[in-house]
Amino acid sequence: MRNVLDTSELAADELRARARRAGLGDIAEKVVARERLSFEDGVALYRSPHIHVVGALANHVRERLHGDLAYFNVNQHINYTNLCNKLCRFCAFQRLPGQPGAYWMSPEEAAAKIRALQHEPVTEVHMVAGVWPKIPYSYYLELLRAVKRERPEIHVKAFTMVELDQIAKVAKKPLEEVLPELIEAGLGSVPGGGAEVFSERVRKDTYHLKISGDEWLGIARKVHNAGLRSNCTMLHGHIETVEERVDHLDRLRRLQDETKGFQTYIPLSFHPENSEMADVPGPTALDELREIALGRLLLDNIPHIKAYWILMDVAVAQTALSYGADDVDGTVVEEHIYHDAGATTPQRVQREELVQWIRDAGRIPVERDTLYNIVWSADPERAPVGHAAPVGA
Ligand code: SF4
Repeated sequence: MRNVLDTSELAADELRARARRAGLGDIAEKVVARERLSFEDGVALYRSPHIHVVGALANHVRERLHGDLAYFNVNQHINYTNLCNKLCRFCAFQRLPGQPGAYWMSPEEAAAKIRALQHEPVTEVHMVAGVWPKIPYSYYLELLRAVKRERPEIHVKAFTMVELDQIAKVAKKPLEEVLPELIEAGLGSVPGGGAEVFSERVRKDTYHLKISGDEWLGIARKVHNAGLRSNCTMLHGHIETVEERVDHLDRLRRLQDETKGFQTYIPLSFHPENSEMADVPGPTALDELREIALGRLLLDNIPHIKAYWILMDVAVAQTALSYGADDVDGTVVEEHIYHDAGATTPQRVQREELVQWIRDAGRIPVERDTLYNIVWSADPERAPVGHAAPVGA
């Protein structure tokens, strides 16, 4: 199947002409010339009714960077506790002790989940959870060690900036001292969650107990300075304005100019079900595609844009591979955070299913590890196994 928006065969002139007809001619000139887009360009792309032209511009950049390749990994999620005192209004996952469904896994229980998949070619465990101050520092170290003891070769991507803030607090040490200890215990990289939207207005309304945008970015800076790669995210589709979204992306872009530590940007779709914000409609499929496209167009210094299939319908994630995304995440296995909030996607897919989804979307499937080294490629000539994937926009 050919991609509807496959611009690889479209002349830049044709892309420019389409954009001109949509009132986006100046932006198209910049995109073709590889110039950085401004704040005003971002607002114009968000406000444009011509979503498919916005997608075509993003696809142009996506194909310039990655051709037809689309990345996935074989991973396993562990949400080690849902105890949390941050009370974010959009969250359906959090529990207080004694509430129905509250849980906190021991390191041995987490290790047992790793053991249960020993026979599968899992390369990454993704561990994130709630924030509970009574969890001692020693628990986090032991959790990492228990996972690595069970499967020494696995890459542990764990603890959002919000969790790291809490871990340093409970350790009673600066994060700069805590990070090397976490690395020593097995931490390999850091996921991108917890950023939400950096706007103070939105934070005060919706997640006022969570760290601020400045604090999130400050922790990300320390993570990168410690030699760890991380991802970054934005939670979209609730009460944030277009300007607040562009500001969020601009602040990520500025930190990336400084540290080059972000690997992948992942727009996270707000799911209202079962949360205090159940009356807010949440994003449509077209909104999700626009977020992917804006991420690709504005974040010119972040190598990868992920269409996180667990949050989107699979069909939307497949379409996103022609709207700027080059990655669909992984096999996941067991996910609670978004399914508690009403996500109806499966909790698990087989590797072969992911490969087929990508093929059906007209892209070439490439299995990567967490750091984008290539594990398997459907087209070894264009994506040689064992070689790092192309990085840098
Ligand atoms: S989003 Fe995270 S920090 Fe906020 S309440 Fe839920 S689990 Fe806690």
